[in-house]
Amino acid sequence: MKKIAILGSTGSIGTQTLEIVRENPDLKVKGLAAGSNVELMEKQIREFAPQTAVMWSEEAAADLKKRVSDLPVRILCGMDGLLELASMDGYEVLVTAVVGMIGIRPTIAAIESGKTIALANKETLVTAGHLIMPLAKEHGVSILPVDSEHSAIFQSLNGEDTKRLSRILLTASGGPFRGKKRSELSSMTVEDALKHPNWSMGRKITVDSATLVNKALEVMEAGWLFGVSLDQIQVVVHPQSILHSAVEYVDGALIGQMGLPDMKLPIQYALFYPDRRPMKGEKLDLFRVGTLTFERPDMETFRGLCLGIRAAREGGSMPTVFNAANEKAVALFLDHKIGFLSIAELIEKCMDHHHRIENPDLGQILQAEAETYEYIEHINA
Ligand code: NDP
Ligand code: MG
Repeated sequence: MKKIAILGSTGSIGTQTLEIVRENPDLKVKGLAAGSNVELMEKQIREFAPQTAVMWSEEAAADLKKRVSDLPVRILCGMDGLLELASMDGYEVLVTAVVGMIGIRPTIAAIESGKTIALANKETLVTAGHLIMPLAKEHGVSILPVDSEHSAIFQSLNGEDTKRLSRILLTASGGPFRGKKRSELSSMTVEDALKHPNWSMGRKITVDSATLVNKALEVMEAGWLFGVSLDQIQVVVHPQSILHSAVEYVDGALIGQMGLPDMKLPIQYALFYPDRRPMKGEKLDLFRVGTLTFERPDMETFRGLCLGIRAAREGGSMPTVFNAANEKAVALFLDHKIGFLSIAELIEKCMDHHHRIENPDLGQILQAEAETYEYIEHINA
């Protein structure tokens, strides 16, 4: 029996993780956490019987407490609740599927208490990878990627020494606006940006896929997970989303992982690693796919990718500013307060304004996040 907890259980990755639990009776859920979706959390508690559940808001936690007063479940709230869930005894794998930098502190607490991390929450590594990776090493904890590209790289590296790795080919669908020019992007609406051609995901990451900011975050995530330099990571636009990423070895051999675009495979792989389990559902039919195509990314049009690479090169606190500015700008875009192109413009302004800190500690990372939010409010007022 493998015992797990999920941060962000009501979201896209969280609910798909629970589908895998449903199909594998030897997985047991010990803890669940979400933001405010009390209704779904109540259903999840009734079905999966965790011992602890956390809601971000106090109000939601109070409501949940009433709804499940007939059950022996402990209800907690806020950051204290997330930290308690992350560090409590009685489970082995924490699935980090919250969205945004809120994931940093619970991930650190889980590592310090020896949990394996199944990591979907890329923002944590982007902003605090220099703290998380050495901490995981110190505690002998594995960080297993859930992100489909990173899972593909991880699967392609399996059993090989990374010294033999020459580079990583990180694939990108190109999002709903692939092939468009800047002039066409200015009129794109929230509804247009949320129409991802291949993947069904949460709203924030779907917008990140339309701006290609998601790919910039993934370049940084890959750098931390696999210990490679930026120059060893090539973004490859692959509109069919069948090759989920590949690695090239020093002898030129290129090994990748293919499959239908379905997050359940990488989630399940992380939960059972190094084992593989059968999975229900359709399998990839190469005859039906027919053609796979590859293109260079359009860095001129998709400024978000360009800025992300700049943030990665500058390093220190700059990736935090890039990420925090993007989180805030995407929220404003989803709220119809700014246009699509303003997302990258706001990110650039925040990065230009920031005085970079070389090796930020957790306090400085959270401070840079707060200052970036304030600066956006100031210039957007
Ligand atoms: P969703 O928006 O679908 O879900 C986010 C989850 O986080 C929800 O359960 C939400 O709860 C919860 N949450 C939000 N704020 C808080 C908070 N303050 N405290 C506790 N819980 C909170 O996101 P996704 O599942 O799409 O993405 C999650 C992470 O995984 C992101 O980092 C994303 O980049 C990454 N990822 C996602 C992929 C995908 O296919 N979706 C693919 C690869 C990576 P509530 O519902 O109550 O608001
Ligand atoms: Mg991805």
